[in-house]
Amino acid sequence: LVTGGNRGIGEGICRVLAERGYDIFFTYKGGIYDGEEQFRNEMEKAEALVQSICNEYNVKCFCKEADFTKEEDVEKIFQTAVEKMGEIHVLVNNAGITRDGLLMRMSEEDFDKVLDTNLKGTFHTIRAALRQMIRQRSGRIINMASVVGVSGNAGQANYAASKAGVIGLTKTAAREVASRGITVNAVAPGFIETEMTAVLSEEVKKASAAQIPLGHFGRPEDIAKTVAFLASDDAAYITGQVIQVDGGMVI
Ligand code: NAP
Repeated sequence: LVTGGNRGIGEGICRVLAERGYDIFFTYKGGIYDGEEQFRNEMEKAEALVQSICNEYNVKCFCKEADFTKEEDVEKIFQTAVEKMGEIHVLVNNAGITRDGLLMRMSEEDFDKVLDTNLKGTFHTIRAALRQMIRQRSGRIINMASVVGVSGNAGQANYAASKAGVIGLTKTAAREVASRGITVNAVAPGFIETEMTAVLSEEVKKASAAQIPLGHFGRPEDIAKTVAFLASDDAAYITGQVIQVDGGMVI
């Protein structure tokens, strides 16, 4: 189950996991609260991705819209996912947003929105997944953090706080559920080429690339392959860790 799997890093994760034989259930927000027309467009795009994954990788794939800031949406999604797939072996908490601005000018609304989506959303989905995974006595939870949750970043007080929170949540959950055969880890991307970073000006992109020892932004597949490793048997003895995938940006 991949949250925010319709585009960007989430789509990359769905494709790499499907390529490795996993059945996929992904969610998207899809403008459900932004008007009927946008919702229909997003739904059509998500359905097209479902078809493409089923055809290209010969696995089962389902999608459903959900807003992870709402606990009732999360509960419904997990019910549907279990009905469709039987069990949930891997949860990837990928959905996330930014609302950047300098601390002194940041509105409380922008602070709350980012914390609600990135941190509280992850809290809701972890709890819903654990209900399944504890019964199964196995499971993998992989949370999307960010290097700025480790280093901080001017203009991203809300986002950096949410991702630092995701790291704390990851480590705590790992300790609480290790005895049940469940691992919980985080991946912390640096700059990755997606719609989230496409909004940056060319000047900011150039300056950002200059801070990366490997010299360029990463691609969604770079993150997806790390997620696939953490989901695999090769990572069975890894829990409570944060793996930075950032071209050496934060060393
Ligand atoms: P993106 O292209 O902006 O995609 C964000 C995804 O999250 C979309 O699928 C979106 O659904 C979903 N989403 C947003 N709000 C939601 C909500 N309230 N409930 C449910 N789903 C919601 O982002 P990305 O760049 O692929 O980033 C994916 C993850 O990696 C995020 O957690 C981000 O913080 C993290 N990350 C990204 C970078 C980077 O450089 N790109 C760096 C570090 C960390 P809709 O499309 O339907 O709106």
